[in-house]
Amino acid sequence: MRLAIFFILTAGLLHSCKVEHNKLIESENFEFVKLGHGIYSCIHKFGGKAICNVGVVDNGNETLIFDSFLSPDVAKELLNALQEMDLSPVKYVVNSHFHNDHIRGNQVFAEDVRIISTTTTKELIEKEEPLQIAFEKEHALERFSYYDSLYQNFKGDQQSREYQQILLWRPYYEALTNSHIKVKTRLPDMYVDSIRKIDGPRRKIQLISKGAGHTESDLVLYLPDDDILFTGDLVFNKCHPYVPHGNISKWKAWLDFMNSLDVKTVMPGHGQIGTDTLIDQMKDYLLNLETMAENLANNNLPLEALDAHTVPDKYEEWWFDRFYEYNLKFAHESFTIETNKYQ
Ligand SMILES: [Zn+2]
Repeated sequence: MRLAIFFILTAGLLHSCKVEHNKLIESENFEFVKLGHGIYSCIHKFGGKAICNVGVVDNGNETLIFDSFLSPDVAKELLNALQEMDLSPVKYVVNSHFHNDHIRGNQVFAEDVRIISTTTTKELIEKEEPLQIAFEKEHALERFSYYDSLYQNFKGDQQSREYQQILLWRPYYEALTNSHIKVKTRLPDMYVDSIRKIDGPRRKIQLISKGAGHTESDLVLYLPDDDILFTGDLVFNKCHPYVPHGNISKWKAWLDFMNSLDVKTVMPGHGQIGTDTLIDQMKDYLLNLETMAENLANNNLPLEALDAHTVPDKYEEWWFDRFYEYNLKFAHESFTIETNKYQ
């Protein structure tokens, strides 16, 4: 199981004076995007080691970081750059869920910074991270060497999808290769299992959990004054989400809940920032997956008949296409379990 998960998932500009809010951080790892006064997104760049997207929100008293990247080095890069900006002190780091690419920067923040997650996410990090890091110690170098040799020997078009795939996965495995040396798992110490408000003079902040979705437990960040939602991995943009750690029915309910909020801007866990249409795009993906799985089950097709070639045309351009096969098998399994309940 661990093997499967592994292979599937498989400087700032520093100035001596404070920089203005609209002076964006330059990084090879992420694109720093201003969403509003004191609200920013760090969007993973191909070739970088951020891997997940991260949000930065200043409520006028305190600054909150939503998710903390795969690489502690990238988290440190962001922290150093933020300290040169005219922002309130960083007081909170949120882990939207337990996956390594959202939590491994926790360790770079000061001791008095509270790390927030759901109770279940804290338990999952505590249980899974030692196993995951031990596994990475054993296997990541081999995967990195594979992608590194593709990278070093690539002679074709650097705009091609083939090259972009190499740029996407090489730094991921490079970061994992060092994880057993660099990562000191820092657990969350403050829990939100339904809703918590962290309001300040500039804006209201809401952390909301509705339980399982992308994983057994997910948490989102909503800014009701700004109509902005940071979704963690409950929403991906033009990337296949990884589904088998979650619950498709509950995930769809999460997306319906998001649609009940006033949202104009969505920062997904992976992929570019978009509007609330990203929520519908994700729901459509899950519905499509369910329909495919149901058809396969009703036609008694063997699971072995499923492979990466079954990615529907409309998702042809999406990244992380290797997930599709696993997602479909998981949806098939979920459908079969659900059907058997009523027989
Ligand atoms: Zn995830």
